Amino acid sequence: MAWRSSGATNEALIENLARHGLITSSRVKQAMLGVDRAHYAPSSPYQDSPQSIGHAATISAPHMHAAAAESLLPFLKPGSKVLDVGSGSGYLTHVLAELVKPGGRVVGVEHIQPLVELGTRNTRKSEEGRELMDAGGIRYVKGDGRLGWAEDAPYDAIHVGAAARDVHPALVEQLKAPGRLFIPVQEGNYQHIYVIDKKEDGSVTRKKEYGVQYVPLTDAPKD
Ligand code: SAH
Repeated sequence: MAWRSSGATNEALIENLARHGLITSSRVKQAMLGVDRAHYAPSSPYQDSPQSIGHAATISAPHMHAAAAESLLPFLKPGSKVLDVGSGSGYLTHVLAELVKPGGRVVGVEHIQPLVELGTRNTRKSEEGRELMDAGGIRYVKGDGRLGWAEDAPYDAIHVGAAARDVHPALVEQLKAPGRLFIPVQEGNYQHIYVIDKKEDGSVTRKKEYGVQYVPLTDAPKD
């Protein structure tokens, strides 16, 4: 299914994802058309598959990035604040920033310094990316994403790009009311996406969705 959506260009990839029902929102489609995956994936950027980016990290498959953006979409408006935990290549961080401009802000938190730098470098490859970074629409920071990023909290939306052992409480705390957290959770040998909503009255609901395969959210490697 996923592989059928590959294309020869960024546009072909995104059009194929839409044709196969893996992107259903026109806003997500526009945002993904606006970010060339070749700036973020070191090889086969227009294939609908994950790719290694070094440091045991991968850029997720385009259909997974689409699914994450679509899930968070009700909370991604001009001016929204977003946290992207495990920003890795920076691809989704940039797509999320496209979805909250003008006036929005996305913080990408990574625990590996060379990946903080990779995300920054990749985003600066395009004019739109440079503009977003220069205006503060995207910021990459080094930290343990299990603790969120308190400095810019609370967030309308939080995306976690690595499989957590737990729905880390700091992430729920740093959500606005209303706000949404998209997080893959490791349960035994399996991982599932959980969508955690904080309602306007502060109550929290969690919904278990589909099975996935992400790299784990871990302790930082020793420098
Ligand atoms: N969204 C990224 C996913 C990269 S893979 C992309 O598509 O490019 C998952 C990332 O999570 C890796 O870059 C890894 O370094 C990072 N990571 C793992 N544990 C982490 C932690 N505790 N804090 C912050 N980042 C973490």
